[in-house]
Amino acid sequence: MTMTIVIEDIRKTFDGPEVLKGVSAEIVNGEIFGIIGPSGQGKSTLLRILHLLETPDSGRVLFGDTDLFGSEKPSYAVKRKMAMVFQKAAAFRMSVYDNVALGLTYRNLPKAEVRRRVDQALEEVGLTGYEDRQAQTLSGGELQRISLARAIVTKPEVLFMDEPTASLDPVNTRKIEKLVKYFNKEYGTTIILSTHDMTQGQRLANRLGVMMDGRFLQIGTPEEIFATPAHEDVARFIGIPNIFRGTVLSSDGVDSEIEVDGIKLIAGVPLEVGEKVNACVRPEEISLHFDGRRPSEVRRNVFSGIIRSEQAYGTLNYLSVDCGIPLSALLTWEQRDRYSVRSGDEILLSFKPRSVHLMGGAKKDI
Ligand code: ADP
Ligand code: MG
Repeated sequence: MTMTIVIEDIRKTFDGPEVLKGVSAEIVNGEIFGIIGPSGQGKSTLLRILHLLETPDSGRVLFGDTDLFGSEKPSYAVKRKMAMVFQKAAAFRMSVYDNVALGLTYRNLPKAEVRRRVDQALEEVGLTGYEDRQAQTLSGGELQRISLARAIVTKPEVLFMDEPTASLDPVNTRKIEKLVKYFNKEYGTTIILSTHDMTQGQRLANRLGVMMDGRFLQIGTPEEIFATPAHEDVARFIGIPNIFRGTVLSSDGVDSEIEVDGIKLIAGVPLEVGEKVNACVRPEEISLHFDGRRPSEVRRNVFSGIIRSEQAYGTLNYLSVDCGIPLSALLTWEQRDRYSVRSGDEILLSFKPRSVHLMGGAKKDI
């Protein structure tokens, strides 16, 4: 694997508190790397540093062999290998053609080559025929595709995209997402894209970095992050409602009993007695037993509880059940109608020890 960008312990403070608190990551050549996380966690600041728009206070960024901030002046030779698309599409008061050609300023290309590249970029983003339109007359989705064309017309090695669809409707979002995949595949462009939408990260990225409080709490494939969040805050961000803190009561070297608010959970991992642990259980791994019969032997976490609430979640419902600890499980519409599930009813639910997933701790309060 060739590393395109190596980020080492980047720190950055503006006027207030530290914004980046030691960001490290390695970006692989040709991948789509998604930076996901809630707003205000430092995603844009990191992208702006990578694109040489800000300087880190400390740490290093290697772009191939070049240390980006190693010398007094950032290297413009390197900057030419990068391009960036921002959340708010930048359109200049000129024609669509000139807006896209702007990306090629200072490159000393023959006019015919500029025309060829702009035509091609416009065709790729589906805006052939728009050349003479004034950019201001375009819709938000079209403008963002113009921004993308302006970036891609330079044939960058690395394309940074900072929440490129945050201001767009779902239809235009899909168009941009398709183009992100297309440029990555067609040209092998490495793409680093930030988004607060974890599902977009999941749709697009080969790997994701979850940025919280100025650092990556976890970096991994979407599958790794969604199936095995490494940290309580990651689990919360990706929407796992069942997060517990507990103490290990016993362990037989295979399974462990964890006490959470007076309730015992069995986790399918050996742990040390007395250890404080954080664990989560994905709602889709919890089974509901409507006939009242005890589940099979393998489902060793069995609880009876009172249904407190139901909440729609796409074509499913989240059922919140008070079992001494709150547990959320998924209920299909068919189950809801067939068993006439109602708040206040008692219900039996279960999950396997393997479904109790152990994680790192909550971030320290600063
Ligand atoms: P995100 O993109 O994850 O929403 P940002 O990187 O935009 O996060 O911002 C992280 C924090 O840094 C915020 O608290 C923001 O106010 C602060 N910040 C970003 N840029 C500047 C700046 N130029 N001057 C002062 N504070 C800034
Ligand atoms: Mg941002």
